Parts: sequence; structure tokens; C-alpha cells
Amino acid sequence: MSNFQGKSVLVLGGSRGIGAAIVRRFASDGAKVVFTYNGSREAAEQLATETGTSAVATDSGDRDAVIARVRESGPLDILVVNAGFALFGDALDLDPDDVDRLIRVNVTAPYHASVEAARQMPDGGRIIVIGSVNGDRMPLPGMASYALSKSALQGMARGLARDFGPRGITINIVQPGPIDTDANPEDGPMRELMHSFMAIKRHGRPEEVAGMVAWLAGPEAGFVTGAMHTIDGAFGA
Ligand code: NDP
Repeated sequence: MSNFQGKSVLVLGGSRGIGAAIVRRFASDGAKVVFTYNGSREAAEQLATETGTSAVATDSGDRDAVIARVRESGPLDILVVNAGFALFGDALDLDPDDVDRLIRVNVTAPYHASVEAARQMPDGGRIIVIGSVNGDRMPLPGMASYALSKSALQGMARGLARDFGPRGITINIVQPGPIDTDANPEDGPMRELMHSFMAIKRHGRPEEVAGMVAWLAGPEAGFVTGAMHTIDGAFGA
């Protein structure tokens, strides 16, 4: 457990899965947490009531809405950008509008949210973005747009670390492998194939990812920035 008493945290995309585990973790460690949701209003409201946090509707596909949300929630001590999704299908068949939306949610929003957060953030602030091991390794067809979006976060973190470093603000990418959520249930049809790539043959738990996020947000990680942190049971090894 860490102590985030008095810290102001915004989690973009916190209603379900990994984001919800991150909300729970910061709330139980004493932070004041606001999180966004898009489609899952009921789940968001339930989580907010249960954890004493605040849920607000903001579509991460809407750049200006994301910037406004970050600005209104500031000054933030910690920003976590978790909202993201994958498209599956042959690149020749995917609707280009769907691909562009993926890039808006998975890349445009993290970039502008990070920059906007840094404007008001006190020295020593923390920015953590949830990428994917698929930013490093893409062993399956039909996921090129997702892989490109998660690789893009790597360059973003390396560059923004330089911009924000003089103020002691860190920015890091957490890169999960298969994690048991609605988006990738452990009992789904891809289970055996995914586990075949791994040294630890199970899906990770959202709480395990939240633990890495909490460490990166805490006082021991002040010298860690511009870096990718893989948590994947050796999926990408
Ligand atoms: P889920 O689909 O289970 O949950 C996604 C969360 O993101 C929900 O809270 C959802 O909110 C929110 N979200 C999605 N789109 C938007 C949007 N446009 N605006 C606001 N919020 C949004 O996904 P996971 O928990 O599995 O994934 C979370 C992150 O982790 C993603 O970035 C994903 O790419 C990454 N990841 C996941 C892995 C896995 O195996 N599960 C592996 C590697 C990376 P709502 O329902 O309210 O729209």
C-alpha cells in the first residue's frame, strides 16, 4: 500500500477493467480521485459510490472535451490515461473512420491530456499512460491499428519526459500483456493462443496493473521517466 493522502488524481477511462482497479487502488490509498467514463454510466456511478470517488462523462474520442476535463480537474498531482480499445480485422477491410477514432482515443487523447495536465501540475507530478506489450510485439494479424497506437505512446513518453523533466514531472507507459477484463476475458477463445506465448500461463489481474501504476505514482519512482514498464507474464519476452 502507498500513501496518496491529499493527492489529486484523474483517471481517464475508469469505469471498468484496468481503469476501475486503478480508481480503487488510489481511492483506498487516500487520494481524491475523479474518473471519466463514456458508455458505462451505471458501472461508473456504482464504482464512484462504492469508492467515494467522482465519475464524470467524457468521451476520450473528443479532443477538446478531454482537454477541458483535464483543465477543470486540475491542478492534478497524478494523471492516469487508461481509456483505450482495439479493433480486430484485416487492415484491408476495416472502416477508416473506425481506425481514425481508435487513433483519437488511444493516441490523440493521451498526448493532449498529458500536455494539458502538465500546465497546472506541481513540480514532481506524475503522468502514467496505459499502453500495451503490443507496442513492442504484435504476433497476431488484424491488430495493426492497435499496435501502431500503443507504439506511438512510446515516442510520446520519451519526448514529453524531456519537456517535463526540469520540473520533476515524470511520464511513463505501463505495457500490460493479457489482462482479464471485459476486453480480454481469460475464458475467451484466444486464451490458449495467448498463454502459449507466455512464461506465466495465465491472464494478469487488473489489480496487478494498478499496483505498478501506484508504484510509478509514488515517491520511490521520482527518477523513473520516459520509460516503458511491461507487465505481461513474458508475453513479449
Ligand atoms: P475494458 O474494455 O475492459 O475497459 C475500458 C475502459 O476504458 C472502460 O472504463 C471504458 O469506459 C474506458 N473507455 C474506452 N473508451 C473510452 C472513451 N472513448 N472515453 C472514455 N472512456 C473510455 O478495457 P481494459 O480494462 O482491458 O483496457 C484498459 C486499457 O488497457 C486500454 O488502454 C487497453 O488498450 C489496455 N490494455 C489492455 C489489455 C488487456 O488484455 N485487457 C492488454 C494491454 C493493454 P466506458 O465503458 O464507460 O466507455
